[in-house]
Formats: sequence, C-alpha cells, structure tokens
Amino acid sequence: MACVSYPYEAPVSQSLFDRAAVVTPGGVNSPVRAFGAVGGTPRFMASGSGPYLTDVDGREYVDLVCSWGPMILGHRHPAVMDAVREAAERGTSFGTPGEGEVELAEEIVARVAPVEQVRLVSSGTEATMSAIRLARGFTGRAKVIKFAGCYHGHVDALLAAAGSGVATFALPDTPGVTGAQTGDTLVLPYNDLEAVRAAFAAHPDQIACVITEASPGNMGVVPPGEGFNAGLARLCRDHGALYLSDEVMTGFRVTRSGWFGVDGVTPDLMTFGKVMGGGFPAAAFGGRADVMAALAPAGPVYQAGTLSGNPVATAAGVAQLRQLDDAAYARLDETAATLRGLVTEALATEGVAHQVQRAGNMFSVFFTDELVTDYDRARTQDTFRYTAFFHAMLAAGVYLPPSAFESWFVSTAHDEQAIARVADALPAAARAAAQAVAS
Ligand SMILES: *Cc1c(COP(=O)(O)O)cnc(C)c1O
Repeated sequence: MACVSYPYEAPVSQSLFDRAAVVTPGGVNSPVRAFGAVGGTPRFMASGSGPYLTDVDGREYVDLVCSWGPMILGHRHPAVMDAVREAAERGTSFGTPGEGEVELAEEIVARVAPVEQVRLVSSGTEATMSAIRLARGFTGRAKVIKFAGCYHGHVDALLAAAGSGVATFALPDTPGVTGAQTGDTLVLPYNDLEAVRAAFAAHPDQIACVITEASPGNMGVVPPGEGFNAGLARLCRDHGALYLSDEVMTGFRVTRSGWFGVDGVTPDLMTFGKVMGGGFPAAAFGGRADVMAALAPAGPVYQAGTLSGNPVATAAGVAQLRQLDDAAYARLDETAATLRGLVTEALATEGVAHQVQRAGNMFSVFFTDELVTDYDRARTQDTFRYTAFFHAMLAAGVYLPPSAFESWFVSTAHDEQAIARVADALPAAARAAAQAVAS
C-alpha cells in the first residue's frame, strides 16, 4: 500500500471518518466501506443523482457500485421517489399487513416461476438465514453445503470461507462464530460437482440443502460452469435435499427473473434482496408452496420481523420492479458491454494481464492471466494492481468498488456522458495498474 499515492484530498470526508471512528467500530457500518483493502479515506457521500454520486467535499463521481446493486435505475429515479413520498405520507410503519406487501409478493411470484410463495424480510442476511432454517425444518436434516467464496450475508453458520468483506480482509473465519454453529456446514470448492457428489455420499440422509449464489458476485464475478447449477439441482433431488439458490445479488438485476432467467434451473428455495428493495431494506425468500407452507403461522418453522414488509420499502420495491422491463435489461446489458470493452482496451494497451468476467450485466476485473473459476483462483490475482487502478479512477471521478473481490454495477441511468467520463479516466488508471508494484 505504501507505493500508492492518494492524489486527491478529501478533508470533509476525513473529518467525518475521524468522528465516525470515535463512535462506530472502524468508522463504518459495513466493513467493505472502510477502504481497508485499498487504503485511503472512504468517501462520505452526500447525494446521488442518476449515475452520479456527490461526496461531502463536493466532488462528483460516476457511480459503478450503485449501492452494491440496488440502485439499478440510478439515484433518485422519479418513479421510485414518487412512490416513496406517497407511501411515507400515509405512514411509515403499522405492524399490520398492508397492500404494498401483497403487491411486492405478487410482482416477485409473477416474475420468477419457481417462486410460488414468498416471505418478506428486511435484509439479504435475514433471507438466507431464514431459508436455511426452513430447509432444515422441512427436511428434518441438519447439514448444509455451501461453496468457498460464495457470500450469503453474515449468517453464523455460513461464515465459513465466505467471500465479500471476509475475502477482502482475508479472514478464513471470524471470531464469535462457534464450532457448533458451523459444525453442520460443509464448505466445498465452487464449480466442483464431484466434491458435491462426494459430500452427499459421505453424509447420507443428513444434508438439508445446498446453498449457492445463483452466479457468484462476492469473490468477483465467477459464473457457474456449464451444467453446474443443473447438476446441483439434480444431486439435491436425488438425495432428498433442497436446492437453495441465493439471488440476493442477481435477482431482478441480470434479467427480469434474475439468474433463473439465464439458466432456467428450478430451485426449491430462492433468496432475494438488493434490487427488490428499491434502495430500502427489503428482502425475501420464497419457493415451492409445500416447503413455504412449513413456515409460521401456516406451519411450525418460526420466522418473524417487526419491520418486515415495511410500507415505504415495499412501495419503493414495487415502483422499481415495475420500471424494469425488457428494454431496461437490454440497456443495462449494452452499458455493461460497452464498459467491459473500454476496460479491456485500456488494460490491454498497457499490457496488463487481466480477465474481465461477466454474469449478465454484472462484471468485475481480475488482475490475472487465467480464467477465474473458483475462490482459490480468485485469490491469486494481483490485488496491488487493483489498488492502484481504483485510486486512479477515484481521483478521476469514477467510484469503483473498494475491493478487487466485488462486482461492478451499472444502472439504466448510465448514459453516454457517464460512460465517456469512465472512458476518459481509464487510460491513466490502466497505466497506474501497469506500474504498480507489490508492497
Ligand atoms: C448482499 C448479499 C447477501 C446479504 O444481503 P444483506 O442485505 O447485505 O444482508 C446475501 N447473499 C448475496 C448473494 C449477496 O450478494
């Protein structure tokens, strides 16, 4: 990190970060925001508009994080803002059922064929945690298979070789999670069906479910190999386990029905978050009606939430999803393809070894010359090049994920002007990546 200079000062962000560090551990409310992997001062954002963010020092950035996916229409989209304003005017929480929850559930069920019923929650973590509990309750089995590098939120049982913030900080595990909590979790290498087959053979009638990111985006973008998801679904069916597809990131982002719309593999349970909340805390899990029927109050598996189905969050989610038609996804795909081309061109010009990997309109850059198919491979990339690249882009007004292990996200608001700003920033950033040396 010592070789990287931070060419732009951010005095107001710095003073807020200093204040934050006094009252909040590490100064942030989610670890990856702290710039720990890339160094420097995290930018405190004051406002957003379309494809742009403005920080508290008054600098504008093209936003290629989009709140880690949710802001798929860009910031302050008028349809979402109107829905939020109208909902808030009627009251912000009732602790009773409301029409917005029904509308959001109907929208999800209409879009994603395998989802017959859905339960709304407030975060992706809650969705995966609840879905795992339901899978265990429904099957009467304890064990769960997950894949190294897949992140499913900070669920205790799933914080074993997880990606995202944990990958960034290279923590193989985390203190505070006990052996009892991960004792029923089997962590297998991603894209390795043989390992899954062996695990089922070694633990007959004990595996409740296999949970996987529909297409992983939390170790960088590492799509499933041909037939991998279908193979998982088949093995689960053959062994009486449930196939749980985590679409918190891909859901409603890569197609109108998420990754299911790409590979058509039918899961028993699915989880959603990010895009479906329209920028508010709303998430969901759903799937087969007979499995969902095991959930309280219909069935015995307990699950609840004071703010679940919150009227403002559901209004935002419904408004956002209703904007996301085929034309919107075509636009997102085109924008992502243009950006991928620009990144490759800039890095190739400087002779920097890299892979731009994609899953629909999600993509990320690995600084390595080998295709990345699993977490072990992802970790061999030259992260010091990303650090230099990131800071050069930031200095030029482009906000990338502050970690080499995260997907980049575009929105329908990214227009020619925003893309041109990225294009202008890339040559110098590619040069910085080429010149970077491991510290
Ligand atoms: C973001 C994410 C989660 C966790 O969602 P939170 O809302 O941050 O709790 C779970 N699974 C996947 C695949 C994600 O990308």
